[in-house]
Amino acid sequence: MSPSRDTDVLVVGGGFFGTYLATHAARRGARVELVEAGDRMLQRASLVNQARVHNGYHYPRSILTGIRSRANFERFAQEFPECIDRGFTHLYAIARDGSHVTAQQFALFCDRIGAEYREVDEAAAAFFDGDRIEAAFEVKEWAFDSEALRVHMEAELEKAGVRTTLGVRVERIAEAPDGRAEATLDHGDRIRAGAVINCTYAALNGLAARSGLQFLPLKQELVEILLLRWGPPLGDIGWTILDGPFSSSLPFPAHRARSLYHVRYSTHGHWFEGEGRPPRDLDALYRSPMPRSNRMHMICDGARYVPALRQAEPLPSLWTVRTKLPGSAQTDSRPILFRSAVGLPNLHHVLGGKIDNVYDVVPHLDAVLDQLARGPVDVAG
Ligand SMILES: Cc1cc2nc3c(=O)[nH]c(=O)nc-3n(C[C@H](O)[C@H](O)[C@H](O)COP(=O)(O)OP(=O)(O)OC[C@H]3O[C@@H](n4cnc5c(N)ncnc54)[C@H](O)[C@@H]3O)c2cc1C
Repeated sequence: MSPSRDTDVLVVGGGFFGTYLATHAARRGARVELVEAGDRMLQRASLVNQARVHNGYHYPRSILTGIRSRANFERFAQEFPECIDRGFTHLYAIARDGSHVTAQQFALFCDRIGAEYREVDEAAAAFFDGDRIEAAFEVKEWAFDSEALRVHMEAELEKAGVRTTLGVRVERIAEAPDGRAEATLDHGDRIRAGAVINCTYAALNGLAARSGLQFLPLKQELVEILLLRWGPPLGDIGWTILDGPFSSSLPFPAHRARSLYHVRYSTHGHWFEGEGRPPRDLDALYRSPMPRSNRMHMICDGARYVPALRQAEPLPSLWTVRTKLPGSAQTDSRPILFRSAVGLPNLHHVLGGKIDNVYDVVPHLDAVLDQLARGPVDVAG
């Protein structure tokens, strides 16, 4: 019989969500164990992303996401000051053609959500091709350093007393005879827990499928983020062009580089899961060769709006799978998902569309911890 151990809360996945939620649960007095398949924390979506600490501006079609972003921005900035790069000027520019919003609508949206902005003068606006850009605004929005965040979260896990296991995959979750959840690890060990929090992001349905459980409807996208070496004359300007198939470029502190993301060319395909469509094997996907890079399309199209981009030196791209709730495409919103007991009591699935909306998950986790502290519900009574 394989060794078995016991804990109050098992967190599966050591990205930012898993590490943050594990720390939170441990600080509330629970015994917490975190199992991460990779050999370090924060190596998947929490590393390969655009590194934007969202302050609402990016969502002019979803006022709710804008307002939540504003609240979470301040909280994230206060909690992780040493993980944020503030050393650049961030310009949001509105495309003249093909944008879902006009400059006036963007300004109105910022007023509504209470986000600071300033329309830039001609000299700063010259960074863009004036024939293609209606107006540009300087905004208060920064980039996070996911490497610093990893170091920070590893220290927090240790301080909070979370037991961590790296390099081990949770194979499946089942109901134990005592009604709790039981996880089987890839080397056969078992962990019995009062609650399992599935923070595996793109692999969320993979774990559900291996456990014989229903999968959640999710949209998965294979995404390329191009890294750039950046120097004068691009200087310290980061930009985001709204609101449609355009580019954005921000510092990427974890690699001491810049990222270039393009709404049209960064995505190399998508697939849907749920409603009878099984999840793809992501380990096999990451092991297989990635498609041919779209770097030339990204740079050429980006340079139509930001001519200086032609002078940046491309570095190798980063690849990842981005997971979205299917309904978020129309508004570009980023709601969270917290779904409990989909076929198994005590299993809770978590999906966060942005790093800082982990704060929206915390009240749901608190409810689970409160329930654990009260003990099992007496259904008969
Ligand atoms: C292309 C892209 C751009 C983005 N841009 C931004 C942005 O600019 N700003 C922003 O705030 N957010 C952005 N996001 C969203 C943000 O990156 C995610 O919301 C966040 O990183 C999710 O964190 P996570 O911990 O849930 O997932 P992850 O960081 O992916 O962590 C999941 C972990 O689970 C582990 N795992 C998987 N299966 C198992 C298993 N069976 N057993 C054990 N471990 C397992 C994986 O190894 C991984 O470490 C972006 C995302 C993508 C993909």
